[in-house]
Amino acid sequence: MKPVVFLPHAVGPSGMELLAADCTVLVSSPDQVRADSAEFQSYLAQADGVIVRLFPFGPSEFAAAPRLKVIAKHGVGVDNIDVAAATARRIPVVFTPLANANAVAEHTTTLMLALARNLYPAAAATLAGRFHERYQFEGIELAGRTLGLIGLGRIGNRVAQIARHGLSMQVKAYDPFVSKTDYQGAAETEPSLETLLRSADFISLHVPLTPVTRQLINAERLKLLKPTCRIINTSRGGVIDEPALAAALVEGRIAGAALDVFEEEPLPTNHPFLTTPNTLLTPHIASATNESMDRMARDSAQGVIEVLQGRQPLGVVNPQVFG
Ligand code: NAD
Repeated sequence: MKPVVFLPHAVGPSGMELLAADCTVLVSSPDQVRADSAEFQSYLAQADGVIVRLFPFGPSEFAAAPRLKVIAKHGVGVDNIDVAAATARRIPVVFTPLANANAVAEHTTTLMLALARNLYPAAAATLAGRFHERYQFEGIELAGRTLGLIGLGRIGNRVAQIARHGLSMQVKAYDPFVSKTDYQGAAETEPSLETLLRSADFISLHVPLTPVTRQLINAERLKLLKPTCRIINTSRGGVIDEPALAAALVEGRIAGAALDVFEEEPLPTNHPFLTTPNTLLTPHIASATNESMDRMARDSAQGVIEVLQGRQPLGVVNPQVFG
């Protein structure tokens, strides 16, 4: 009998075709993507494998999936999966490390350029027939400015390459897990987060959301930023204290923010960021390119199939379960 793979949300054709060749594939009906729906519970009960995008997969979902042998993240941020619960049951959590770094890095660069040139308010004024406001949108150039990266993994490194070699920026990075002596990338490593924050014209966050990185950028650290600094977050909303950032923007203590990710998604309709000045928001789309979606779909499906066939895939969050 073919193994059963359950997807709360379908993935791209390259992944669905791979799965269909080897597995019985169950996808939630659009109105049943709720853990408390009868269909969802029935699909979980049958699942040998699951692929999730941003759907939260916690202790109760694991408990409702007694046959589960593998869970795959369509992406890299596994903060929506209870990895400890999976590890306790020796279930591999697989992910797609090679799929989306370039897409996220390019979106980060887009946001940085858009902030520098006031692109969003300038475009809105043009569309609204306020062409004459053009002198209000004088921007800054990136060449020679200092970009401070927090997190120097796959995405941080790609941003560093683009910023240094494509935009002639000075790139510094804080990452306590990257050794200064071994590192050979485009950034200059900076051992102190506080020093990085004080010196940057732009700060961009590229860390996973963990208990240690939650609210890494808090009210105290926001006070270290130059008033001309702009902050970009394409990692996870929880790494910034959102009310503190909103206050810094309202009080003009920093020059702007571009955010793709939020503590609560979808962003609540009364969220302060909807009205804070110099704020550019996108709806968690940093990895959403044709190329990246195709790779995430293919690699997550491949990871599930490899585990179900008794092999260890390339990207595994908890490789100790294979020991
Ligand atoms: P990665 O694991 O390659 O890099 C993360 C880096 O953060 C590592 O080098 C790690 O050492 C560093 N780090 C960990 N804790 C730190 C700390 N306290 N201070 C400074 N650095 C720390 O991951 P990646 O592929 O670069 O992705 C980074 C994050 O981006 C993901 O975890 C995910 O949450 C987010 N992401 C968002 C999107 C999106 O669509 N917006 C898409 C992909 C990834």
